Amino acid sequence: MAAPLLLRHPSSREHDTGAHPERIERIVAIEHALEERDWLGWEVRESPAVELEALTAVHPARYVEMIAEVCAAGGGALDIDTIVSARSYEAALHAAGGAVAVVDALLGGEGPPVAASLHRPPGHHALASRAMGFCLFNNVAVAARRALDRWGAERVLIVDWDVHHGNGTNDIFHADPDVLFVSIHESPLYPGTGPASDRGSGAGEGLTVNLPVPGGSGDAAWCSLVEHVVVPLGLEHRPGIVLLCAGYDAHVRDPLASCRVTREGYERMAASLRSLADELGVPLGIVLEGGYDLVALAESLTATLEVAASSVEPTPVALHPLAAEAAGRLADRWPLVGAVAG
Ligand SMILES: [Zn+2]
Repeated sequence: MAAPLLLRHPSSREHDTGAHPERIERIVAIEHALEERDWLGWEVRESPAVELEALTAVHPARYVEMIAEVCAAGGGALDIDTIVSARSYEAALHAAGGAVAVVDALLGGEGPPVAASLHRPPGHHALASRAMGFCLFNNVAVAARRALDRWGAERVLIVDWDVHHGNGTNDIFHADPDVLFVSIHESPLYPGTGPASDRGSGAGEGLTVNLPVPGGSGDAAWCSLVEHVVVPLGLEHRPGIVLLCAGYDAHVRDPLASCRVTREGYERMAASLRSLADELGVPLGIVLEGGYDLVALAESLTATLEVAASSVEPTPVALHPLAAEAAGRLADRWPLVGAVAG
């Protein structure tokens, strides 16, 4: 079997946001940690710039041009916290290109069971026509679209465990019948979206699953939500690929939020998703999102990759009240999940 594949690009270090939590040092810390471990034995490749056709399947061409123009003019602030520099457009093209390359490798017959795209800027807050929350292009949305349009995946599952709600992804697939978007996020917290009552619309009714958790929630709640809610959702949705929006800002050390997930928690959640993908017989793609404590980010991401590439049976997790409540809420649309609530 082919080695797991890791996509990266030096342009992630050229997206200069200045004194900002989403900073160049994030990717430096990640790559340093992985390099020290010989990249975990993964095959490392430079990401291509995304093809415009794949990008404009999610973002209107005039929006892409606007980002290019602002960067060409030297950069600036796209909103109060989304900063771009002269090289940010190039970095964003490779960030989306890396996510697409993950899907192409996983579904295009190359055969690795897992691949990861590690870039900045992140993507999950980006709406189709609006940059926000440090994000320019919605990398995972572009990747999911690619899986459906290019590779004929019948369905996609996106699991977003960044501590912030992935509002961009939520909105892009809100009425889409093929993409199940599941987000665990701290609430209340930026961007203020993602209540449990937001369950998608139209043909996508029921295919948006928001799992808000209060600040202070740790491994017990997060791991239980993944094991007892996300896994049965995935088994019932039967996607052709699982995509993970891997943010590490729910970590206890993270400065931007107040959840208390540990590295062991991320390992446990990764084991659940690895085992879900195995049970479905589909590949697992990982796309980096947030995470602002450099040590927590590098350690937890490395641990996620290690577990994702292994086949360790996840250890049992107790049913947390938040997971039981969510399962009860979802029982009408998702019987397998409802079975968890008993
Ligand atoms: Zn985040």
